[in-house]
Amino acid sequence: MPDISSLHALGIYPWVRKTVTNAATEGAATSLQARVATCTACTLSSTRTQTVLGGGNPQARLMIIGEAPGFYEDQQGEPFIGNAGMLLTNILQAFGWTRNDVYITNILKCRPPNNRDPLPDEIANCTPFLIEQINAVKPSILLALGKIAANYLLNTNASLDELRQTVHLHHPTNTPLYVSYHPAYLLRAPGDKKKAYADWVAIKRATDSVSKC
Ligand code: SF4
Repeated sequence: MPDISSLHALGIYPWVRKTVTNAATEGAATSLQARVATCTACTLSSTRTQTVLGGGNPQARLMIIGEAPGFYEDQQGEPFIGNAGMLLTNILQAFGWTRNDVYITNILKCRPPNNRDPLPDEIANCTPFLIEQINAVKPSILLALGKIAANYLLNTNASLDELRQTVHLHHPTNTPLYVSYHPAYLLRAPGDKKKAYADWVAIKRATDSVSKC
């Protein structure tokens, strides 16, 4: 049985005996999902359809972090759907994974209008939620997809190509972090799929070689 407090932190409430006292259950109203769903810390709260917290396996060894929900994610409340999400699903399948083998989220939980880049104050306001997610899932490997997620997670302005093909360490969680192209970019630049494949070979090898913390 997965750790209950980790599941609750992600807004997942498995059935438990009512006679068992469970502080996490009593605190369900203040779960991460509930706090994100009602968050108004930045102006994106006024333009979103709904928040998109994350999805997949809350016990995953690999946690994939993108930039922000897009149109379809905002409509359906799931991360990485639409064409880019389908490409991510296909990449995962090519390496023997399903979406339920990994945990998928973004640095922002609300869609920026017209899919514009996140603003610094939006990232500053929203990323404490992401850190809570990382601390709850405790992945062995983090994967930043796209420059914006990579730059935030590594506190740098370096280009994606400078950050790929290197194992970084994420602070403050001290988790090994890999960087690769966002699937939305790969749809626009299919010529870089070969380089992305090389990234995923390294990510798969690293994930398979570590045990869950
Ligand atoms: Fe809150 Fe994040 Fe949504 Fe801004 S983007 S309203 S900080 S959940």
